[in-house]
Amino acid sequence: MPRVKDNAFIINKIDYGESDLIITLFTAGRGKINTIGKGAKRSRRRFPGSLELFSRVAFNGFIKHPLALTRIDECQLLEPFTAIQEELRSYFCGCYFLEIVNRCCAERQANQALFNLLNDLFTFLATVPHNRNFNCRIRLFELQIITLLGFKPQLSFCLDCGRGLDTDRFFYFSPQTGGLVCKSCQPRHPAAFSVSRGTINMLNEAHRLDDELRNKLNFTPQVERESARLCRALLRWHSGCDFKSLKIMERYTENDLPVAVPEPTMTITKNLGQNQPLRFP
Ligand SMILES: [Zn+2]
Repeated sequence: MPRVKDNAFIINKIDYGESDLIITLFTAGRGKINTIGKGAKRSRRRFPGSLELFSRVAFNGFIKHPLALTRIDECQLLEPFTAIQEELRSYFCGCYFLEIVNRCCAERQANQALFNLLNDLFTFLATVPHNRNFNCRIRLFELQIITLLGFKPQLSFCLDCGRGLDTDRFFYFSPQTGGLVCKSCQPRHPAAFSVSRGTINMLNEAHRLDDELRNKLNFTPQVERESARLCRALLRWHSGCDFKSLKIMERYTENDLPVAVPEPTMTITKNLGQNQPLRFP
């Protein structure tokens, strides 16, 4: 019976019976896995406050059968990222990224870079929620996560005819092809939408930014809007569904915000699987 011992983030949890929990983890060594914690709702000794969303934990468990849920014996808290739960904008942004991971990651596919990105994201959300370039950083995290999921947009030439950026003033983004199409080819891609040269240039440069520049960067409203539309169109195309956390995140990132999180903050669906979303009240 293979033992499992790893660090992980809590990305979803669902009540299962009177005392058990189905817990979705994003682990450092195995990527996303669905697990069951027997007695997890009652045992504070084996699960001492370690099952809150966003928490980074160290867990021990075992795999009884290759197709069965991983069983968790115990789960120790390493970093709670408590501040995310205490500020609405951070909380709802965090839930949006949890939903991306939950929907778009296949199970048991290791992705250490994505694990590291989640750590960077949660650290950002917990420590600098009122940073003046908050929305810009969220756009950059969106771009990073779609790249690490394998959906990196191609923004250098028309994917239909091969025409380069320098030869046409107008370009469109086609989620189906995963990149740009030129004005001449756009009629063959009815779902493509226009994207400005400024946004194309900024997104092409964004991959080369170091942390210092990321913290200083601010997008113009047009670049921010077009970047968000492009990333979300890609995520929708690859996941095949709308993200339920997206609308509420957009509302709380674009308006002035109350400070405290209302109760209840969130409930979890009774369903299990990568296409099962978080549900908001
Ligand atoms: Zn073309």
